[in-house]
Amino acid sequence: MSSVEKVSCLIIGSGPAGYTAAIYASRANLKPVLYQGIQPGGQLTITTEVENYPGYPEGIQGPEMMVDFEKQAKRMGADIRFGLATKVDFSDSLHKVWIDEEKEIHADTVIIATGASAKWLGLPSEERLNGYGVSACAVCDGFFFRGKEVAIVGAGDTAAEEAHYLSKLCTTVHMFVRREQMRASKVMQDRVLNTPNIKVYWNTDTDEILGEKNVTGVRIVNNKTGEKQEIPVSGFFVAIGHQPNSDIFKPFINMDEAGYIQTTPGTSKTNVIGIFACGDVQDKNYRQAITAAGSGCMAAIDAERYLASIGH
Ligand code: NDP
Repeated sequence: MSSVEKVSCLIIGSGPAGYTAAIYASRANLKPVLYQGIQPGGQLTITTEVENYPGYPEGIQGPEMMVDFEKQAKRMGADIRFGLATKVDFSDSLHKVWIDEEKEIHADTVIIATGASAKWLGLPSEERLNGYGVSACAVCDGFFFRGKEVAIVGAGDTAAEEAHYLSKLCTTVHMFVRREQMRASKVMQDRVLNTPNIKVYWNTDTDEILGEKNVTGVRIVNNKTGEKQEIPVSGFFVAIGHQPNSDIFKPFINMDEAGYIQTTPGTSKTNVIGIFACGDVQDKNYRQAITAAGSGCMAAIDAERYLASIGH
């Protein structure tokens, strides 16, 4: 049976943006309710060491940092719950959000902090072997392939950085680039091209990832000549960019063609009054924990000021 709950500030998402919004909103007495989504803690829970977040002079593990964020939000009084926002209706001033297709929340303000997720190639073999040699995070999983041969697909800064990271652990890194050039910055390209155990394949698509229970190889195809080739590898890394988690908001919230939510510059305000966005779902440029946290703070302050303006 569905139930309806009224809240003044609903936060969707539990990365640095969502938890920071929860800390600020709690301290402003907005009594925020935060739903964590399918990956509590967000993308930082699939990284290892974070060395660039101020306040941790020795660095910290990503998952541990997110536990700290959650604890701090809880200590300030945020109501943190497990659950996924599956549908919204922002067509009137009482903003409706459905959790797990069942529970209905009516919120005066909503802070969208749903982040972004890794993109995948979309091959059935990639999905079947995900976690069994297929990964979208070299920094998280590279360790498992020490002394082995691996492959990576992508040609942006992430792919270049991850290929270089893997080259220090693995015997050979086969890097598949779909065009005849890389998108990565010149310095990152040079690093890749000057690393002897990274082998770059130009104009190359992944045809199939091979293996029954674990990855044992990959079949690639040259998209100019049609020539196919099989390469034995134990790991297959996908580094082809990220997708903002914004689908459910599409009918109501303005976004760019890639799905990043558009906010009024210098604020967290979206095109719908009372709806704010922060973190990676609205940021394709910086995508850092610290910038996400900063924008979460902005969203909570914007929500507080909006609520004050309508007499709450
Ligand atoms: P990008 O969108 O920059 O690059 C994605 C890459 O994946 C492109 O080379 C693209 O190819 C390729 N690609 C996309 N889809 C496919 C597919 N289906 N099959 C094969 N290849 C595919 O994403 P990144 O994650 O690399 O970077 C995102 C942003 O973060 C960028 O602005 C980047 O500069 C920044 N960044 C900066 C870093 C740094 O400065 N140290 C480190 C990491 C990221 P194509 O080029 O043909 O489109």
